[in-house]
Amino acid sequence: MIGVVEALEILKANTFPFYSEVIGLEFICGRVLAQNIYATRMQPPFDRVAMDGVAINLKNYSQSSNIIEEVQKAGEKAKNLENLQNVIEVMTGATLPNGTDTVVPYEECHIENSRVEISNMDQVKLGQNIHCLGSDCQTGDLLIQKGVQITSAHVSLIAGQGISEVSVYRFPKVAIISTGDELIAPGISCEDYQIWRSNPYAVQAELIAIGGTRENISLFHLLDDESETEEKIKEILNSFDVLILSGGVSKGKFDYVPNALKNLGAQIQFHKIKQKPGKPMLFATVKERNKAIFGLPGNPVSALICFKRYVVPYFNLCMNINPKPKTAIFNSDIKLKKDFTLFCPVITEIDDKGQTIATSIDSNGSGDFISLGNSHGFLEILPQKESQVCEYFQWGQL
Ligand code: AMP
Ligand code: MG
Repeated sequence: MIGVVEALEILKANTFPFYSEVIGLEFICGRVLAQNIYATRMQPPFDRVAMDGVAINLKNYSQSSNIIEEVQKAGEKAKNLENLQNVIEVMTGATLPNGTDTVVPYEECHIENSRVEISNMDQVKLGQNIHCLGSDCQTGDLLIQKGVQITSAHVSLIAGQGISEVSVYRFPKVAIISTGDELIAPGISCEDYQIWRSNPYAVQAELIAIGGTRENISLFHLLDDESETEEKIKEILNSFDVLILSGGVSKGKFDYVPNALKNLGAQIQFHKIKQKPGKPMLFATVKERNKAIFGLPGNPVSALICFKRYVVPYFNLCMNINPKPKTAIFNSDIKLKKDFTLFCPVITEIDDKGQTIATSIDSNGSGDFISLGNSHGFLEILPQKESQVCEYFQWGQL
């Protein structure tokens, strides 16, 4: 049986790039870039006046010959200072007039009859209040890397390069498939021996948190019937890029998923991981058709943990997203299990040093999904745990 690290390596080796689409600036916020953004020109593209005031030639300016020759507005070609002892009035965002090298703000000037007197000449520094040509970036500089989730700050940067549309990843078409005769849809009455299914909705909620929408996520339910399992999965594979099954992957007599996938020609990349909970986790591909299939364990705690630990990182890899792992300091004791990685649902709080402190929740074991509602996420506790600092996965976050 493989361990968590190996499972993640197998996922990495079996990604396929999600499709991309080119969309207009107004719709890109929150989407993931499928292209690098390079500077289309130097920034600023000219010596930019950074304050309203007067532009002078510091060496030659004279408090006696100090006539305002011109006014330089933003959006005009650079004017020329004819007599270097004089000044040109300048506005923020204007190009620095030719012949000038320093800007003195209005606050430090006294203007009367088209002449200017500068209050503290000895404090004026050469080049002050000028945002110099190319000081922020050069043409061709890499500004934003592929895989970045676009924020309003990125939108500003992209628009500022004159770019009106960019390539972003399209969320894949995802089928969430629950399995089990005992499972009833919420909203429908349920016998004592039946239960309402929750995995598909929890998975859907997590998918929406990472960019899924009503248009690209569909829910299906399969009964524990061998031929139905195979036929339905075959049909679903025709229309979806990623299948996320839950249940039916363990050793039970009616756990038909692994065999159905094999019969359909899918390559089982791994089945079972040395971890608790979530040992039966399965991952398969249909490489020729760029399909990825996840078989989450049925138990709702395991299903959600495995989704966060394996499916989210897989989606990130397919979109070049490289989030910084979160960590938390584990505040409780846990009995380690040889060779097994443990996933421990926790409540977190920030201490007075700003560190995330995680405390395990009271639970009746991995079947207890009622207690999961009290948790904020879970910690990954490695078999060779050497420190209290663990990787932390938070519900509903990247
Ligand atoms: P299985 O892996 O199919 O044997 O399922 C393991 C356990 O998880 C069983 O107790 C199932 O009833 C339960 N289970 C499976 N799928 C779901 C679901 N969608 N919602 C809630 N419980 C589930
Ligand atoms: Mg089942």
